[in-house]
Amino acid sequence: MAKRTTTKTPGRKKASKKKAARKNTRSASTKGLNLDLLTRLCEVPGVPGREERVRALIEGEIEGLFDSVETDAMGSLICTRNARGRGKNPKRIMLLCHMDEIGFYISHIDDKGFLWIDPAGGFDQRNLFSRRVLVCTKNRDYHGVMNPGGRPIHISAPDERTKVPAVKEFFVDIGLPADEVKKRVKVGDFLVMDEPAREMGDKFVSKALDNRVACWLGIEAVRELTRLGSHSCEVVVAFTTQEEVGLRGAKTASFAVKPDIGLGIDVTLACDTPGIPSNESVTIHGEGFGLHVKDSSFIADHELVDHVEALSIKHNIPYQRTILRAGGQDGAAAQQAAAGAKAVGITVGTRYIHTVTEMIDKSDLAAARDILARFLAEVK
Ligand SMILES: [Zn+2]
Repeated sequence: MAKRTTTKTPGRKKASKKKAARKNTRSASTKGLNLDLLTRLCEVPGVPGREERVRALIEGEIEGLFDSVETDAMGSLICTRNARGRGKNPKRIMLLCHMDEIGFYISHIDDKGFLWIDPAGGFDQRNLFSRRVLVCTKNRDYHGVMNPGGRPIHISAPDERTKVPAVKEFFVDIGLPADEVKKRVKVGDFLVMDEPAREMGDKFVSKALDNRVACWLGIEAVRELTRLGSHSCEVVVAFTTQEEVGLRGAKTASFAVKPDIGLGIDVTLACDTPGIPSNESVTIHGEGFGLHVKDSSFIADHELVDHVEALSIKHNIPYQRTILRAGGQDGAAAQQAAAGAKAVGITVGTRYIHTVTEMIDKSDLAAARDILARFLAEVK
């Protein structure tokens, strides 16, 4: 193909300079970001169906922010803040923030006291080798190690070394004799990965950013809203359960709340790392919150997408439009519950998703908080 010659027009250069300048000015301040809260949210264990500890932490945090707080039959925490100020028949805006992280249930305890597991949520078993875990029982938690059955490197055959075992081949050892294990752990107890959260330069890393990021946003965006002043909408933050196994808590909560607008708050893919072509990046770290248009569970309301985009530009909040080929989020449940609602997703790009090294950029988190607060403050 012949090389194309372009004629240099001064206008175009000026235009691209302006665009670059405009883009660079959009930034979200990470100053005063409440990372202590994010750390505590990321380190409290809670798998699908066992979110009670996460819920208790949130209840302790939200005092004074909402006019009513109730737990529904699925264990979702429904928090309502009435309109503050102008107008009758306030619009009901629902933020859906799931509390559950991917984890396991104990499915069997064998004669040697090893624990066998059943997954709750989607794991890539390539990430499960030699993991530290926390086995959560009624009376106390036990540290444990998770490994697949099989021979160690010294005595294993070459083909054994390249095989990726199925999840059901992994077991957990908590270091106690069989009779002690059977006294303390029951089938149906749950376990999570045992990894501390870490601030790392501009980044934050944890095993449960999906979706404790949204639990953080459900609290911090409303705190920011109270700083912005009055709002004419009614705000309902639903800290939902069982999202990782099919948006279950969001479905029942949305049916009860019947919002006018649903905002699905979640992490999304940030595939701006080696080995992935740029057309599959979904989001790029540091370029703002994800304005979530489509995934395999929903297609956002396009007018709402445009409205959030205009608001981001108006307030200089960095954003990036996103489409996710596979995967879903609670916004779909709000959109498709009862008689339906307008819905859009607000997301934070996360590298290495569904692993113990999930990573976000702090400025993207701040941008998501800021756009949520602005949206709630200005929606009519
Ligand atoms: Zn999630």
